[in-house]
Amino acid sequence: MDFNFQTNIKKYAELAVKVGLNLQPGQKLIVQSLRNGGVPIQTAPFIRELVASAYQIGSPLVEVQWRDDDLILSRLKYAPKDSFGEYPTYLADGILEVIESGGAILTIAAIDPDLLAGQNPVVLDQMQRAYLDAWKPISAHIGKNAMNWSLLSIPVTGWAAKVFPDLPEGEQIPAFWDALFKICRVYEEDPIAAWESHLKNLQKRSDYLNQKAYRELHYRAPGTDLKLTLPEDHIWRSAGFKTQSGLPFTANIPTEEVFTLPDRRFTEGTVRSTRPLVYTGNVIDKFTLTFKEGKVVDFSAEQGENFLESLITTDEGAGMLGEVALVPNSSPISQSGLLFYNTLLDENASCHLALGSAYRFSLAGGENMTGETFKELGGNNSLVHSDFMIGSGELDIDGVLRGGEVEPLFRSGEWAF
Ligand code: ZN
Ligand code: ZN
Repeated sequence: MDFNFQTNIKKYAELAVKVGLNLQPGQKLIVQSLRNGGVPIQTAPFIRELVASAYQIGSPLVEVQWRDDDLILSRLKYAPKDSFGEYPTYLADGILEVIESGGAILTIAAIDPDLLAGQNPVVLDQMQRAYLDAWKPISAHIGKNAMNWSLLSIPVTGWAAKVFPDLPEGEQIPAFWDALFKICRVYEEDPIAAWESHLKNLQKRSDYLNQKAYRELHYRAPGTDLKLTLPEDHIWRSAGFKTQSGLPFTANIPTEEVFTLPDRRFTEGTVRSTRPLVYTGNVIDKFTLTFKEGKVVDFSAEQGENFLESLITTDEGAGMLGEVALVPNSSPISQSGLLFYNTLLDENASCHLALGSAYRFSLAGGENMTGETFKELGGNNSLVHSDFMIGSGELDIDGVLRGGEVEPLFRSGEWAF
């Protein structure tokens, strides 16, 4: 580990604490990855920097929930078959106690996507349900931005092997860190200042789009001719959020998108994907979707067509759109050309749409309306929310104003305003 690497992980840790969380003096912090059983112990060199940074800001207590992959595999191998509904609920209760008393929460995305490959799906489903049940009250706090929260990726062995299959084993993790540092602007002279100006730019873009309140978006690219309708009260957002008490924070690093919801009922035309989509660990690539009156009526894929079909037919909402996001083709993730098998990283690569549920906060007053009202106003509900990339250097997007005038939003994959 050379000196530069140590400096860079320190900068990355500071980004998470200062820009991601905007952790305040006196605020406790939980660092967790409850979905996957904890933060992998192999990430300890990075986590130590992170914890130091949090204490330096003035946090009175930082708690990290650890895991070891072998312990998870051991449970799957030896624990009684009827025991996978068991869950250490005190972990979720502990997190809840901290956030309800004003603490912040950092979620670490760091898992080998193939860790659980070949395991009994029924057992995995039971484990997932037990986690989701325990996580529900925390998820409700996150959904309301009751406190500052953020999401951050850290390379681990199996994951790095998946992203860099052609590199020798010893070079995969360093290559992953190098990619992350580039994508997250860690190599900038002053990464925090770089992020402040990047976030300001995203905010400016979403303010502009909100003020225009386009009625329709028209996408054109090779294989794509698609019209989306935006609900009257749609709100364009970026990952720059505010807590209920007004503290700004950034929900994830990196973030490149400005996004809202389309009216699920009116999508018309055909769209072609430009990057692979990873769905439940499977790759779906080079696919085309055709929409009529909001619904997917035709689809094909060169790879993973059966997975695409199972995604679209999950439930009624899965065959309709729930998100539209704008990301310039020059984004650092797109330029990296890498597939990360991870939504946080992959969805920030380029312009995308999502099949499935829409975010309530994309619609004015959406958080406080019933599911029925949200649907009546064009929102989509589904068990899935699956982002797929449609951006490229050949994508043009027009915005159609309420009065019918047409304005360029994207030209050759870049912002046109
Ligand atoms: Zn998105
Ligand atoms: Zn999304």
